Amino acid sequence: MKLLRTIDSGLSGPKIAILACVHGDESYSLNVFRRLKKLHLLKGEISFYLVHPQAFTQKKRFIDEDLNRAFSKDSKSCEGNLTKIIKRELEKFDYVIDLHSTTSKTAPFLIYVNQELKKTGFLDLFFIKKRVFIPNARFSLIFQFNSAVSLEISVASGMKHAIKRGENVLLSFFANLELIQERKRKVCFPDSYFCLGTMKKKKSLKDFSLTRSEGEYVYPILSKEVSYEQYCFKAKRE
Ligand SMILES: [Zn+2]
Repeated sequence: MKLLRTIDSGLSGPKIAILACVHGDESYSLNVFRRLKKLHLLKGEISFYLVHPQAFTQKKRFIDEDLNRAFSKDSKSCEGNLTKIIKRELEKFDYVIDLHSTTSKTAPFLIYVNQELKKTGFLDLFFIKKRVFIPNARFSLIFQFNSAVSLEISVASGMKHAIKRGENVLLSFFANLELIQERKRKVCFPDSYFCLGTMKKKKSLKDFSLTRSEGEYVYPILSKEVSYEQYCFKAKRE
């Protein structure tokens, strides 16, 4: 895990960690970081991390196993060792924002695994319409911290588009926390989804578009993600 940069206002306020490359091949987030270099903070501090430098250098999703499935199982793999370092390094932060990208054509969405976050107002700080709750996700990075979310952004419409989107989501998050002097932007009526598990991928599936599968109506999520070979997620509306 590599700390790339900290922007410190010198004034008390929220401490935020922004994470790139939990999956080593999702490097668009490093370009998002570059665009946020010159932030002028009114309070608090923001730290930018390259989480899995080894996988990033090799342009691979992971070395031994998916880092985002390696928490809470005490594995001796490359990623298993990394989980311990991550937990130690990030426990001092108030908020952890974990940036991901997907090859699936989808609107940007937030993933959260701690149901309490619905009540704390933390999710409302993001200018993103879609939110997906994944239950029983002990193995994931964001499960290890109180106020943590993953942000999924599609690269299906090109890298430039994804980078701009990622930048905008982070800037509105900082503005909503009053860390920077920009207009606050919030979603009035978010679309909330509850992840039910996985379903078999099919060509006809479209993310967040209601479909009938094995006798039930569900919303497929990440249905065109190339790193998922056979299955994608399925969800219901909350
Ligand atoms: Zn990812």
